[in-house]
Amino acid sequence: MDARAISLVRTTFKAVAAVEGGPGKLTRSFYAILFARNPGVRDFFPASMEVQRDKLVTAIAYAIDQLEDLDRLLPFLGQLGRDHRKYGIVDAHYAAVGDALITALEQFAGNEIWTEEVDSAWREVIAVMAGTMIEAAAADDGPPVWQGTVVEHLRVLDDVSIVRLKLDEPMDYSAGQYVSVSIPSRPRMWRYLSPSIPANAAGEIEFHIRRVSGGWVSPAVITNTARGDRWTFGSPLGSMTRHTARGRDRLLIASGTGIAPLRAQLMEMASRTDNARVHVFYGGRYPCDLYDLSTLQQLAAINPWLSVVGVVEDETDPWWYQGQPGGLPSGGSAPIVGQLGKVVAEFGTWADRDIQIVGSPSMINTTKFRLQSAGVDVSNVRHDPW
Ligand SMILES: Cc1cc2nc3c(=O)[nH]c(=O)nc-3n(C[C@H](O)[C@H](O)[C@H](O)COP(=O)(O)OP(=O)(O)OC[C@H]3O[C@@H](n4cnc5c(N)ncnc54)[C@H](O)[C@@H]3O)c2cc1C
Repeated sequence: MDARAISLVRTTFKAVAAVEGGPGKLTRSFYAILFARNPGVRDFFPASMEVQRDKLVTAIAYAIDQLEDLDRLLPFLGQLGRDHRKYGIVDAHYAAVGDALITALEQFAGNEIWTEEVDSAWREVIAVMAGTMIEAAAADDGPPVWQGTVVEHLRVLDDVSIVRLKLDEPMDYSAGQYVSVSIPSRPRMWRYLSPSIPANAAGEIEFHIRRVSGGWVSPAVITNTARGDRWTFGSPLGSMTRHTARGRDRLLIASGTGIAPLRAQLMEMASRTDNARVHVFYGGRYPCDLYDLSTLQQLAAINPWLSVVGVVEDETDPWWYQGQPGGLPSGGSAPIVGQLGKVVAEFGTWADRDIQIVGSPSMINTTKFRLQSAGVDVSNVRHDPW
């Protein structure tokens, strides 16, 4: 793809996104065109398209952002292609999606913006994206989906559950990756979750799930999950750890259930002997939110390369919390009180570290900003691309 084509695609997308309600209108129009031309495709999607629409815009925006960095973009698209096998889609569906997107963009941008040159730039980009996804999907000889049975459901907080499953067939994911998950009471509403333990040959897998109020899937997981439920999984995604250099010190920062993918990596590292130093900062609003701090501190107690620091905004648990005092494992240090990004930035010098941040987009942005202000080069910082 030449620089001119990339620039045209970016400019058109920016122009569309800048219009009031732009991305939302674009995706509504895209799906309307796609389903009108290909009625069978509607069955791949859930009844409510609200979340799906956001996902499409986020994925396109991310891909457009990375067009010059093919080393990053192509593996991402490859993973997406392997994951999309879960829908049972074939090559013709990619063509249908590409055509519907072009028509929607053209209608939305209007004749002045949508010139022949813009049209061919978009077709080129879509061809690269679809081609990479199709090729990766075809080259994967693993199953398109995995099935697993819930063997344990622990409600560790009112709004956080730990769910353990046994997969029918083991899945070969890297610690730190995530998978799309579909639960029986919310068919086709795929959501990403990050395994909190490394892959193993027995097919045991564990997730930490926080309830998002008003969400479709997470409240159902917390309220309804029972032993024996069958969950379905897509192929593993994410390359947060791909650039991590062996031997380089690491800084890992998580809030809430964001600890899950970091914990999986720590458990995997604990099985090796050649680890560089790792500092973990684990943040929550209240001490009780740090439901996994004692596990991490126990891991640190027997692995000298690992340091774990809890960070909370309030020193005491809320009055309505009825469980064990949170965040204060015996022998471990008490959490520091403060704002997570600020505490990390002021704690030490992190300029030479490989850094991973896992949490909500706002937590990631704030923490990144704090680190950058403290002299960290943001090219050392990784987080998942959503
Ligand atoms: C790479 C990745 C890994 C993830 N891993 C985990 C994990 O291990 N554990 C886990 O619990 N979740 C994880 N998530 C989040 C998860 O995929 C769902 O987005 C979340 O559970 C909400 O789904 P829902 O169906 O309940 O809400 P939805 O129906 O999808 O959303 C309802 C509303 O809530 C908003 N919303 C969605 N998520 C959040 C949020 N986190 N905070 C505030 N508002 C939100 C949406 O924008 C929407 O307006 C991960 C997400 C990504 C992208």
